[in-house]
Amino acid sequence: MNVYLDNNATTIVDPQVFAEMEPYFVQKYGNPNSLHAFASDTHPGIKAGMEKIYAGINAHREDSVVITSCATESNNWVLKSIYFEYILTGRKNHIMISEVEHPSIIATAKFLESLGCRVTYLPINHEGLIDVETVRNNITDKTALVSIMWANNETGAIFPVEEIGELCAEKGVLFHTDAVQAIGKLPVNVQLFNVDYLTFSAHKFHGPKGVGALYMKKGKELIPLLHGGSQMGGYRSGTLNVAGIVGMGKAIEAAVDALDFEMTEVREMRDDFEDELLKIEDTFVVTPRKKRTPNTILISFRGIEGESMLWDLNRAGIGASTGSACASEDLEANSVMEAIGAAEDLAHTAIRFSLSRYTTQEELDYTLKVVQAAVIRLRGISSSYAYAPEGHESGLDSHHH
Ligand code: PLP
Repeated sequence: MNVYLDNNATTIVDPQVFAEMEPYFVQKYGNPNSLHAFASDTHPGIKAGMEKIYAGINAHREDSVVITSCATESNNWVLKSIYFEYILTGRKNHIMISEVEHPSIIATAKFLESLGCRVTYLPINHEGLIDVETVRNNITDKTALVSIMWANNETGAIFPVEEIGELCAEKGVLFHTDAVQAIGKLPVNVQLFNVDYLTFSAHKFHGPKGVGALYMKKGKELIPLLHGGSQMGGYRSGTLNVAGIVGMGKAIEAAVDALDFEMTEVREMRDDFEDELLKIEDTFVVTPRKKRTPNTILISFRGIEGESMLWDLNRAGIGASTGSACASEDLEANSVMEAIGAAEDLAHTAIRFSLSRYTTQEELDYTLKVVQAAVIRLRGISSSYAYAPEGHESGLDSHHH
């Protein structure tokens, strides 16, 4: 049996999405900016796709949603534009992010730091959550931007973006949220709270890879990162990714349609699966379920290296993760586990299971059996597990059974 439980890394393309994209490769392949029928053949698809993307987050007509190549580009764009406009010019000197943002935020912030920007990396607490007061305490009159993700890719922790947005409005600070892990898992409506910029990416909600977007609230438009032609209103040059726009449109429409299912059925399957996993002795989950996206479990198995568990799972046809895919080629501890201050012996033991609306109960039943067998096998050969002292200080709330 093959089981895909790595949906926070990427997702299967919804076959309906693929079907809608297909004509835009071999039939309707014109450059939308050309002056002939090959071009105009693409226009209805682009228009419909863009309308669906706007509707998917409830952007107003006057707001801008700009299509990019990925969320990484959208995130780079926001931080670098703010740097050019506010920091380089000396108007402000500071941006604030959380210490568990995606590398496309962290690495960009570090780069800007090397150019003289002051950066605050907000800590998360032992539950993997952010406290709004720490945001408040770190804002100064020189703060240009606060950028906090909506939901964390590793734990699924949902951050209080509504309160942070309100605080930013009150203090006159721009607010960006990386909503990559929120779309299709939580209701995302940019009119319901103060948000100036919002990043999302099609391949995380059953759309194609290589298509991202950035929402910019009316009046808060950024200077371009990619200069060139006048595509996307001049905000982002480069020949339009026609099939990508069509695909992202269909994907976000389907994701919003499936949101109820995700928040009830998927959540229930996740909860039951998690209950079963936690029956295994010495297992730990960081963030309380109610404060998590419905599809994600980050669980530690004491005494078992995450990579060893992945090996056993992979041999049984199961794809999971030790954390973000970007970091999985080096054997560093999971960054969230480090950030919450997990003890060294647990920091390397986290496994992330991320479900989707395509996940079945049968797949989870099978996975549970494989995990149970892997735990017995791997703890049997673990040098650290047998010698773990009783009442060992884990840094995490315990789920002993
Ligand atoms: N932000 C978050 C929270 C993510 O989980 C990811 C996915 O890896 C990204 C950004 C980057 O997305 P993309 O692959 O579209 O660049």
